[in-house]
Amino acid sequence: MAKTLIPPFCVSGATGSRKERLITRTSALFPPHSASQTQARTVATTSEPLASLPSASKSRHSLSPMLESQTILITGALLLLLFLAWKYKGLFVFFWHECILLPVFNFISGMSKEERILNWVKQNAVVGNPQSVLEAIDKYGYEKEWAMHVGDVKGRIMDKIMEETKPKIVLELGAYCGYSAVRMGRLLPPGGHLFSIEFNQKFADISQQMIQVAGLQDKISILNGPSQEIIPQLKKKYEINTVDMVFLDHWKERYLPDTKLLEESGVLHKGTVLLADNVICPGTPDFLDYVRNSKRYECTNYPATVEYMRMHDALEKAVFLG
Ligand code: SAH
Ligand code: MG
Repeated sequence: MAKTLIPPFCVSGATGSRKERLITRTSALFPPHSASQTQARTVATTSEPLASLPSASKSRHSLSPMLESQTILITGALLLLLFLAWKYKGLFVFFWHECILLPVFNFISGMSKEERILNWVKQNAVVGNPQSVLEAIDKYGYEKEWAMHVGDVKGRIMDKIMEETKPKIVLELGAYCGYSAVRMGRLLPPGGHLFSIEFNQKFADISQQMIQVAGLQDKISILNGPSQEIIPQLKKKYEINTVDMVFLDHWKERYLPDTKLLEESGVLHKGTVLLADNVICPGTPDFLDYVRNSKRYECTNYPATVEYMRMHDALEKAVFLG
């Protein structure tokens, strides 16, 4: 390194005032760029042999194996990431959208995803027509942004179960933007009612507006609060004696404790249908174990796909036998 900074003529045989002149000339030609360069020049001026220079060349040799192992590590990590992205394409796209694109969309539009969905519905659906609301939400889910509504594929299975069960009173756990509430609400018989529990105030407001666009405000009520607090109050506070169908679609770890709360509260009757979404993805293993191994339930599984995706999911119907 010193050799490149200070040309050979400067180092060899440079003594006394001639040496100083040479240094001045070299400094003008090669101004110092870094501390190590300055240090190299200082050492050269003392006419010490090159062999005793600071170990710049030594450190260059010891750095390269480190760099090599770092490069191997980084390449390995990138290859692993590419492999995982390929193997779990659906999940990768999901996290890419939810963790990277979503904050960017929110920042650019100045709105939350749920507000954008409601706006889209207001612009594309026909007021008072629930089917057009569902179609607008599904179109947005497929073409614009993924969202956690039950969606059209599992929705059609729900429609069939609603038509077979003919429930008058339905309880929903988890409203989000009101998609499944509108889906079930539109199939209720005259005098029927759906109560949907939602603890997120913003989602409860969006759902209420969605229900209004669908024209189902007389058939659907949003109960704003956590399911674990509302279920024990259903009879006394909300005067709901029994329910004919429950749609479980809130946070997955609440399925089992809320099923037990429903049993304890006495709102289930012989023949009440519990319909649970997402029993495969993200999955509700403790709930499935419980209802499938209990003599109090008769279970049927309905294989399907995750909303707006090709990944495997299913609905589970558990009929309460009393
Ligand atoms: N059923 C809706 C989607 C619901 S998404 C549809 O298909 O259109 C799940 C919702 O459950 C979220 O809005 C979340 O805020 C709500 N939630 C989760 N845990 C809850 C709880 N313990 N009580 C009330 N709401 C809950
Ligand atoms: Mg769901």
